Amino acid sequence: RIVYVNGRFLPYEEATIPIMDRGFLFADGIYEVSAVLNGRLVDNEAHLARLDRSLAEIGIRNPHDAAGWTRLEEELVARNGLKEGVVYMQVTRGVAERDFVFPSDGTPPTVVMFTQAKSIAANPLADRGAKVVSVEDLRWKRRDIKSVALLAQVLAKQHAAAAGASEAWMHEDGFVTEGGSSTAFIITQDGRIVTRPLSTAILPGITRRAVMRLAEEQGLTVEERAFTLEEAFGAAEAFFTSASAFVMPIVEIDGRRIGGGQPGPLTRRLRGLYLEMAAA
Ligand code: PMP
Repeated sequence: RIVYVNGRFLPYEEATIPIMDRGFLFADGIYEVSAVLNGRLVDNEAHLARLDRSLAEIGIRNPHDAAGWTRLEEELVARNGLKEGVVYMQVTRGVAERDFVFPSDGTPPTVVMFTQAKSIAANPLADRGAKVVSVEDLRWKRRDIKSVALLAQVLAKQHAAAAGASEAWMHEDGFVTEGGSSTAFIITQDGRIVTRPLSTAILPGITRRAVMRLAEEQGLTVEERAFTLEEAFGAAEAFFTSASAFVMPIVEIDGRRIGGGQPGPLTRRLRGLYLEMAAA
C-alpha cells in the first residue's frame, strides 16, 4: 500500500507524522474524501473546491491548485491499482511547538493522502437498506467546514453501530441536521424529495448537490427545508448520501420501519441515476 506524505509517495509502513503536528494536537486541519469508480475519480472538482473553501475558512494555505491535487490523486490511485474505493486527503496547519496561536507564516502545511478499497456500486447494504438511529447533534457551529475534529461524529456513529445501525442522524432543536458522515433526505408521501438547506449547520455535501441536480433533471420536486424526526418516521422513503455510499436507502429509523422496510422505488431510481453519472 502506497500513501502520500508531504511530496513523497511511500509504503504505508514508512510513513510518519511528527507528534507536534497540529492535526494531531489540535485537530487543526481539513480533509476531503473522493470516490473512485472504475479507477476514476467521481465529481472530484467539486470535492477539491470544497477543500479549498474549508482551508480558506480556517486560514490554512492550500498547498496545491485543483490540477496539482488531481495529478497527485491520480498517481496515488494508479500506484495502488485502485479500481473502486476512496481517496482520503488531509491538510493540517503543520508542525510547530505546541501553542494555540497559529505558527509563523512560513510553516508548511502537512499533506497526507491514502486510498481505501471499498465496494461502493455493488454494496449489499444498498439492496437491504440501512438502519439509522437518532442522536443529539453535539457539534460546533461551523459544520460547513470539513474539519478533522470529528469527535462528536465518532461518538454518534459508535452509538449507531452499537445499536446495530449503520448511520446516526443528528438532530438539533427538533430538526434533523445530517448524518454522522452523510446528508439526510426524506421523500414525502406525495413524492417530494426533502433535504435541509445549506447553512453553517451542515456540511455542503457534494453528493447531495449531484443528487438534487439529477432529481430536478428528471422533473422531480426537491424541497430544501429542515424536517423533524417525527416527519421522517412518517416519510414514504428515506436515504442518505455521501461520496463513499452514493445514495443509500434507509429502511429503519429508531426502530420504526420506513416505507414497509424495503428500499423505496424513488430512492432506488436516484441511486441508479447517480451510479450512471459516476460511471460515465
Ligand atoms: N455530512 C457530513 C457531516 C459528512 O461527514 C459527509 C461526508 N463527507 C457528508 C455530509 C456527505 O458529503 P459528501 O457527499 O460530499 O461526501
